[in-house]
Amino acid sequence: MDRESASTDAKQARAIPVTVIPGDGVGPEIVRSATRIIDAAGVPIAWEEALAGAEVFRRGDSSGVPHETRDSIERTRVVLKGPLETPVGFGEKSANVTLRKLFETYANVRPARELPGVPTRYSGEGIDMIIVRENLEDLYAGIEHLETPDVAQGLKIITRKGSEKIIRYAFELARREGRSKVTCATKANIMKLTEGMFKHVFEEMAPEYPEIQAEHLIIDNVAHQMVKNPTQFDVIVTTNLNGDIISDLASGLVGGLGFASSGNYGDGIAIFEAVHGSAPKYAGKDVINPTALILSSVMMLRYLGQSAAADAIEQAVLVTLEEGRAVTQDLARQTGGDVEHAASTTGFTDQVIANLGRQPASVPVSVRVSDASVERRPEWTYGPERYAGIARELVGVDVMIESDLSAEALGDELSGMGGDALRLAMLESRGTKVYPPSGLTVDSVRWYRGRFVAAEGRALTEADLVGLLGRISERHRWTEVLRLQSFDGEPGFTKAQGE
Ligand code: NAD
Repeated sequence: MDRESASTDAKQARAIPVTVIPGDGVGPEIVRSATRIIDAAGVPIAWEEALAGAEVFRRGDSSGVPHETRDSIERTRVVLKGPLETPVGFGEKSANVTLRKLFETYANVRPARELPGVPTRYSGEGIDMIIVRENLEDLYAGIEHLETPDVAQGLKIITRKGSEKIIRYAFELARREGRSKVTCATKANIMKLTEGMFKHVFEEMAPEYPEIQAEHLIIDNVAHQMVKNPTQFDVIVTTNLNGDIISDLASGLVGGLGFASSGNYGDGIAIFEAVHGSAPKYAGKDVINPTALILSSVMMLRYLGQSAAADAIEQAVLVTLEEGRAVTQDLARQTGGDVEHAASTTGFTDQVIANLGRQPASVPVSVRVSDASVERRPEWTYGPERYAGIARELVGVDVMIESDLSAEALGDELSGMGGDALRLAMLESRGTKVYPPSGLTVDSVRWYRGRFVAAEGRALTEADLVGLLGRISERHRWTEVLRLQSFDGEPGFTKAQGE
């Protein structure tokens, strides 16, 4: 073996394996940009190229993520990916969401900070926030049903474990990065059990981090405050859908999707991607802004413990933006610049490579999101012993019923169906009590919830529930049944409006 190939082999042996998914639309162009820069910075990475997205769906794989790709990720545990498209008519689930779920990347981390050379309404104020979004639960569980031909229902799933994991992650991140405040953003005022659980866990955990200011704000107020006074925010932790919306809002504050980076972190696994999608109208034209994915790859290098290379690449990007010699179309458009002579994706990438080793004049490197080696892994105690001492009681049942009857007529009929174990406590329509009549007029959607509770002094049995359903189904079409339980005497269900 000659000396050169021996040293190449040695390099390969030291190289860090990373799965790289070029993705759809502009994906291959931005991924090429990021991998070229990482290679130019001298980081020894063994890229394992893998497929996912549109082409895979078209081949007939309805998950969009083939087995070879899953195997590669199992091996490397680190992914750099381009955006993935879900072509209409192929598969039902987004391949992006599938990847996040398959590998349990529960933390979606999206930094948003002011960048030099990217003028915005807030330039000079120093926006510098990190949004930590729960990535697996909430309405993204994607569990939806048509209860009637006209009534669709989606389940919002929030678990204590999921909430503890993401809130712990946010506090640990704040501590690691020397940040002073964590804001928890929920809609707990309306969704008392789901968003309320998230808020409750946040309040329980906050005292473990006495050096970090902890506050809770209602999510709509967060949106308002982000636009009015964005610099008040430092780290924001929130549930999945809230996080989806406010993190796009945050990217809008600092220059738009072309600059918005993200990492999806799980236990010993991470997926790095730009926030934006496949922007199909720009695909193959060499005009897209690769900054978002380059900054995501900087997050990846920090995760891999390659801090020096991460700093060098981040600084080279900042120098490039600051000097403005290579301005991509999106930025030229935003700033009223020369769109026709804007820098190509390749031109911008070349400039970043040329700027490796230089320091930006105006911006300190501040976002160091996650170095895996210092991540604290709490011990989870979610075995049966955790729940053994909790007293549960079956106190009633909610039965959803499709019906053309008026609330009054249906309520009168159901009142006689409880038997000696159950009595109809109320009927509600879309969360508002409509029976016994309260004088309110509520528009009928042909779908009601009958709430049956245990008759005075009666301990309920399974047979009582089965008997009730039998009687209801003789005359009505029930669509769903939910047990009403209390836990340590506290009701595990909400009341209807007006109940
Ligand atoms: P998009 O983000 O692809 O594009 C919206 C617009 O934003 C573009 O037309 C462009 O004007 C601008 N833009 C986005 N990225 C830019 C960049 N790097 N530089 C300059 N301008 C940029 O959103 P879309 O059009 O709603 O979605 C297209 C496809 O991407 C859909 O199939 C969607 O499902 C998918 N998608 C994937 C991901 C992901 O992989 N994580 C995220 C969002 C959307």
